[in-house]
This record gives sequence, C-alpha cells and structure tokens, in this order.
Amino acid sequence: MALRLKLGNYETQYVDALGRTWVGYFPRMTEQEAWESGRGLWKMSSERAARQRFALIVGEGLVRAVGEITTLSVHSTPTGQRVALEGHVLLEGHPVRDAWVGKPDPVDNGSQNPIGYCELPEEQPFLLRPCACGCGEDAERDFKPGHDIRAIQARVRDHFGSSPLTFITWIDATLANDSTSRQRAS
Ligand SMILES: [Zn+2]
Repeated sequence: MALRLKLGNYETQYVDALGRTWVGYFPRMTEQEAWESGRGLWKMSSERAARQRFALIVGEGLVRAVGEITTLSVHSTPTGQRVALEGHVLLEGHPVRDAWVGKPDPVDNGSQNPIGYCELPEEQPFLLRPCACGCGEDAERDFKPGHDIRAIQARVRDHFGSSPLTFITWIDATLANDSTSRQRAS
C-alpha cells in the first residue's frame, strides 16, 4: 500500500513546525516543492502511515510528486498533534515515481479526505518482507544485511559440526552425485 496525500489551496504560513513559509498547491510547482508542501502536517494515524514506504502527493487531481518515507515525525500545533513524513522526493528514473508523476489521483473514492491509501503495482518489489533467516524482522530483500551469512552459519553449526570444510565437501559431493545420476539416466 502507498499513502496518498492531497494538497489544499495555496496559503502562506507564519508559523510552521516544518519551517515552511507556504503550503498547498500552485501551478507548475516542482516535485521537490510538492513533496515539501505535501509531507505535512496531517491529522492521521501514524501507525498506518508508518507502514507505507511511498507517498503520492496529489494537487488538482494529478500526482505531483512521489516521496519515499523513511520515518514519521509528530508535532504539537495549536490545533493538536500533527504528523509529518520524513524522507525524500523520488527522482526521475525511479520506477514508482516514473509510473505516477503526472497521472490522475489513483484514490478515486469520491471522498474529500485528503488522506487515502492505495495499492501500487510498481511498489511491490520495494516493499518490506519477513527476513528469510527467521529473525522476525522485516527486510528490503530476502534477508536483512548480514542475516544471509548468519543463516548459513547456523546450518553449518547445526549439521556440519561448525566446519565450513565439511559443508563444502558435502555440497560438492552431493552435486557431483546428482549430475552423475542424471548422466546415467539419460
Ligand atoms: Zn533475519
């Protein structure tokens, strides 16, 4: 899932927790400007937003920027707690950005709520998945960095008496046996 945030009308800001002097949409804004304007401050569930990796910033019905969320920040404002996205705008060449910038708002539910969520096919390769070592943490690839080595070492320890040589000898012999039996069969 990705987060979709709709920019409101352009307005100047006198006090802003993110240090901005304006927010909202204006014509021909850059993607960086759309991201800075759209990344906060929102009255939204930080728990749900924190599970998203990408945010589409929409202005006047079109996607104006795509940002990658690294974390969230929470700010006290005169009207209560507000959430901002921390991260960066995606540059040209990123598949999620290239697929969506300039395209119509994918959250077309008729709601006036500026905060929405949607599935993006392009984000699938980038989403977190459970680390294959079984540690219970999430990984951007099959394993968290270093956990592939840890998973192999655990098997060497448990099945080969902690001897990498025994493990490698066993692999070589097993594969050689396999190819010998395949040759015999053919
Ligand atoms: Zn792991």
